[in-house]
Amino acid sequence: MKFEEIKKLDGEYLAETYGRYPVAFEGGKNATLSGVDGKEYIDFGSGIAVNVFGVNDEVWKNAVVEQLNKIQHVSNYYYAEPQSRLAALLCERTGAKRVFFGNSGAEANECALKAARKYSFEKYGEGRHKIVSLKNSFHGRTLFTLTATGQDAFHQYFGPFVPGVDYAEPNIADVRRVAGKDTCAVIVEPIQGESGVNPLSPAFMSALSEFCKKEDILLIIDEVQTGNGRTGTLYAYEQYNVVPDIMTTAKGLGGGLPIGACLFFEKTEHVLRAGDHGSTFGGNPVACAGAYSILSRLDQDFLLEVQGKSEYMRAKLRTMDGVKKVTGLGLMIGLDVKGDAKAIAKKCLERGLLVLTAHDRLRFVPPLTITKTEIDEGLSILREVLQA
Ligand SMILES: *Cc1c(COP(=O)(O)O)cnc(C)c1O
Repeated sequence: MKFEEIKKLDGEYLAETYGRYPVAFEGGKNATLSGVDGKEYIDFGSGIAVNVFGVNDEVWKNAVVEQLNKIQHVSNYYYAEPQSRLAALLCERTGAKRVFFGNSGAEANECALKAARKYSFEKYGEGRHKIVSLKNSFHGRTLFTLTATGQDAFHQYFGPFVPGVDYAEPNIADVRRVAGKDTCAVIVEPIQGESGVNPLSPAFMSALSEFCKKEDILLIIDEVQTGNGRTGTLYAYEQYNVVPDIMTTAKGLGGGLPIGACLFFEKTEHVLRAGDHGSTFGGNPVACAGAYSILSRLDQDFLLEVQGKSEYMRAKLRTMDGVKKVTGLGLMIGLDVKGDAKAIAKKCLERGLLVLTAHDRLRFVPPLTITKTEIDEGLSILREVLQA
């Protein structure tokens, strides 16, 4: 189909939820995508931090196809090897005790929030149900995770919201002010991604972890975007020297297929039991087989390479005309630029570079396998656009 035909059908038949850029992709290799317009694009977005090994990765495809040739779905009434293997690997790599699989970041967080309430209910009885989240956070689009999203812009139209969620500034004094005797959990992103790629400070994270421990408030770390090698360590919390009680991840874990995981650590290991929670598609064997292939390759050597690429990109960005500030960790990069970020993203696309925006910043989350050549090509397009 030609681009104009695709666009026409989309405009007529799809819910109007997305403001789309005028391009459709049909293939590519690693961080170079090909559009149906026959043009090539350097990808600094990887489908929003999803395609960690780029597109058309042979190893991942083989893992997925091998599973597809066996069985594509089994109900969670039965056992399935891909799910068991992936859960074991996730626990081995993180120190978590158990995993619940869903199909998205929102579902992973929904599971975490429900489990936090149950933990507290069983230990302290009714009423200790409050969730504290941070201002400018993003945790998903289901009603509970949307409520936990600390941005007013998302809170129009859909009320009444889930009761018992409150918002704090990312400093310990404000968390203490907002959290009360009725609080069961605090949920944080190590780097607030959607709101501009702002890392939490290490001092705040460790104070928060200490506070939560002391009050028996569960610390939920949302690594939906920051996880799976994105920041140069397997999970970003490792760089903060804290251990979560619950950690959620999704986006990059599946390498392109939908999967979400909610990881339970020591305190929360036994909270969810038979009948408490579930998902028809959760832990789908094809998604899990792909995720296993991704996770098993995110080893120390690979992560060191990610750190090297991050340094390389950041060094070049810091000295680029029109760049005011470079934020984030690893290959999750925020960029304060002179001029309007959205307009710059559009111009980049016209010249063959895909970038994301987050509030008034540019956001880069390229495939972790992006090559130096692809980085250089992308950056030279960005340089041209910023100079124009
Ligand atoms: C993307 C994202 C989510 C939501 O994930 P979906 O898969 O879109 O439901 C939740 N939390 C964070 C930090 C995210 O970046």
